[in-house]
Amino acid sequence: MNRSMNIATVLSFAVSLVCCGTAFAAITAMGNWEGTWYGDGGTEGTLSAQVVDEGKGDFRALLKADVGGDTHEGIMRGKVVGDAIELKGTIDVGAAFGGVYELWGKIVGEKFTGRFAGAEDQGRVELKKVLKKSPTLGAEPPQGAIVLFDGKDLSKWETKDGKPNPWKLLVGAMEAGGGDIRTKQEFGDFKLHLEFMIPVMEDARGQGRGNSGIFLPGNCEEVQVLDSFGWETDKGSCGALYDQKPADVNASLPPGEWQTYDITCLVPRFDEKGNMTQKTIVTILHNGVLIHDRFPAKRQTARRHGDDNRRILLQDHGNPVRFRNIWLVPAVSN
Ligand code: MG
Repeated sequence: MNRSMNIATVLSFAVSLVCCGTAFAAITAMGNWEGTWYGDGGTEGTLSAQVVDEGKGDFRALLKADVGGDTHEGIMRGKVVGDAIELKGTIDVGAAFGGVYELWGKIVGEKFTGRFAGAEDQGRVELKKVLKKSPTLGAEPPQGAIVLFDGKDLSKWETKDGKPNPWKLLVGAMEAGGGDIRTKQEFGDFKLHLEFMIPVMEDARGQGRGNSGIFLPGNCEEVQVLDSFGWETDKGSCGALYDQKPADVNASLPPGEWQTYDITCLVPRFDEKGNMTQKTIVTILHNGVLIHDRFPAKRQTARRHGDDNRRILLQDHGNPVRFRNIWLVPAVSN
């Protein structure tokens, strides 16, 4: 091997290391982190971070720190530098503990370490990546349940004009594409379990970041599906009754991980003249966390989707969101 070949080989190896380092940092960093802040004077408390990939090597961490018995939120921002992500930001822990503190951190592989400093204390932070799982993930359909998707059979669903379900069948899941789909069957009151995975769309923002949704029957309320991990909760974010009510809690897991909805829906009641006497009543657990508790939903989106009947509809919003393990227990009583 001559000298120029040697140099070329070394250069290409160096380039591949940089590329792999960047990708590796991005893949492992996004998600939930948990750990501790340690004051140099001996104080300490729990600290968690939701690290979000914002695309093009940019990252953001939403921090929650327990200080003085209260939880305080802060934000760090940063970029991929070699095989690390370097972040800095601030957290306001309240006037009684010195107000705003500065933070500097570094994520390498599955370790997130850093320092903080403020008016009354300084010290270090240490966090580890944690994988959180919904307690209802993989829930089996109970006796009497109607299985709407078992991971293999697309046939319980059809397009809004009655054509065969066009969604892509994957191993154990179906992926949105080709238009909205609705159940062939109509339902009254029910409890629905379903699992969904939002794709990693790091460059996308807002309603373009992994959008789908579940339209409930009766008056077609949309339970939003969106990548809201580490983002603010509003009337359009994951778990919202779209355009009506945000989720009470942002219970989102990172994109690329399976999440659950357990939805209890009491469909509207009408008198003999056709007047609505009771709105849709919705209770929803997102990843096992109560996000709506017997909320009387309003008719908001029925006209837009033209599907004012007693079917459940899954939205194709142009993003490859996946679904699996969908089943329903009819006629719940609460
Ligand atoms: Mg949607």
